[in-house]
Amino acid sequence: MNPAAFPAVRIFPVKDTGMYTGKTEQPCCLCDNPETVARVDLPPRAINEMKHGDPIAWQDVIGEVSVHFCESDWELVQNLVLEMGMSPLPRCNAARASFDLREDFEALTNQQKAVQDHSAREQQMLADANAVLDGETQHDPTNRALVEARVIRWVVDNDA
Ligand SMILES: [Zn+2]
Repeated sequence: MNPAAFPAVRIFPVKDTGMYTGKTEQPCCLCDNPETVARVDLPPRAINEMKHGDPIAWQDVIGEVSVHFCESDWELVQNLVLEMGMSPLPRCNAARASFDLREDFEALTNQQKAVQDHSAREQQMLADANAVLDGETQHDPTNRALVEARVIRWVVDNDA
């Protein structure tokens, strides 16, 4: 076999690989259905409350954590949160959430800064959530906004 005919490194066009950088779209965090209809953005601390979330260092998450729901589970989640007042997070698989993790080295050197960033972001998200829940937004909130706001309030207030 002539090795020159089989180059070790092949470059594939990015658009055909389905790979992209940053946050990836994930399937339904409850049932793994790839067809999702709703996305809820939460503070990284929410990972703590998710199924299989223990091994993930939420402090190292950059930005928000998004969970996605398929059509039938979104019905369930709206009822659970808005009617029954229960968090869907213990049923959400953290492995199906989308988020970006800080590089290990960076996390180590910036640990203190990360904690401060999270605190500021959480307070901002809580303030936004409270505005939604207290009817202080310009337009009537959608069910999606209400679900997101309630879960954010639970996540941030639980540890306060
Ligand atoms: Zn589902």
